[in-house]
Amino acid sequence: EGLIWLDGKMVDWKDAKVHVLTHTLHYGMGCFEGVRAYETDKGAQIFRLQEHTDRLFRSAHILNMPMPFSKDEINAAQIAAVRDNNLPHAYLRPMVFFGSEGMGLRADNLKVHVMVAAWEWPSYMSPEAKEIGIKVQTSSYTRHHVNITMCKAKANGNYMNSMLALSEALRSGCEEALLLDNEGYVAEGSGENIFVIRDGKLYTPELTSCLDGITRRTVIELAKEELGLDIIEKRITRDEVYIADEAFFTGTAAEVLPIRELDGRLIGTGRRGPITEKLQTLYFDQVTGKRAE
Ligand code: PLP
Repeated sequence: EGLIWLDGKMVDWKDAKVHVLTHTLHYGMGCFEGVRAYETDKGAQIFRLQEHTDRLFRSAHILNMPMPFSKDEINAAQIAAVRDNNLPHAYLRPMVFFGSEGMGLRADNLKVHVMVAAWEWPSYMSPEAKEIGIKVQTSSYTRHHVNITMCKAKANGNYMNSMLALSEALRSGCEEALLLDNEGYVAEGSGENIFVIRDGKLYTPELTSCLDGITRRTVIELAKEELGLDIIEKRITRDEVYIADEAFFTGTAAEVLPIRELDGRLIGTGRRGPITEKLQTLYFDQVTGKRAE
């Protein structure tokens, strides 16, 4: 139900369809964003809209998919998707994909299509998970698609491993997976960046094996500016997570999510740590406009 912005027009949810020969459905070449609008005093406000649009355009550029719309048009499409559906808060999914104009890897007549959908998605994780933290398993799948170039793009084809990793973790009774990079260093969750805290310092993997997360950037700013913490971007090993005082994931969907256990080892006290809790509050105040950007 509702409206979806497709190639410049608002169409009915049920009419926003693609053909089975959609190129991106077959080969996975495409890119997308996950964006949120929060309920604020000024109505629904999209958090860091411009940064998400900028990343979408960077992703399309990396994939060599020429964007048929301007950044302003894509910003306006996202605002309209929230407004026209009367959503008090929303998850937004802009996506760029090749159409069904051709098949095969050599197709050279493909059109680039863009859509923006918005819907109400109450909470990705339960309130208890946000308070007590989640159990995580290191995955047997790696972020092997993600090398120095591809971590800058939020590309469709990158998510097969994320999905395999997450379903493996869920089947073994955990709530999220931790993926390692090619060389065995900690990369990220299936859809989140990771941070660890040790002796009051905040560590996170550098941007060679994980997505340049917008929540990651926000949390780095908050930790620096509001808490005066040192932030160190470096390669992190699995055992550094085991012996951390605190660890948490960040993401548009997951927000700031404490990790209480990795591979059966409790992290710190096995409960949400004090710095994680402060960052959760600061992040919440930021997205809901309680604190100025
Ligand atoms: N890493 C991956 C693989 C993701 O899919 C996401 C999701 O959005 C993130 C990290 C977190 O990025 P952001 O904070 O921009 O949502």
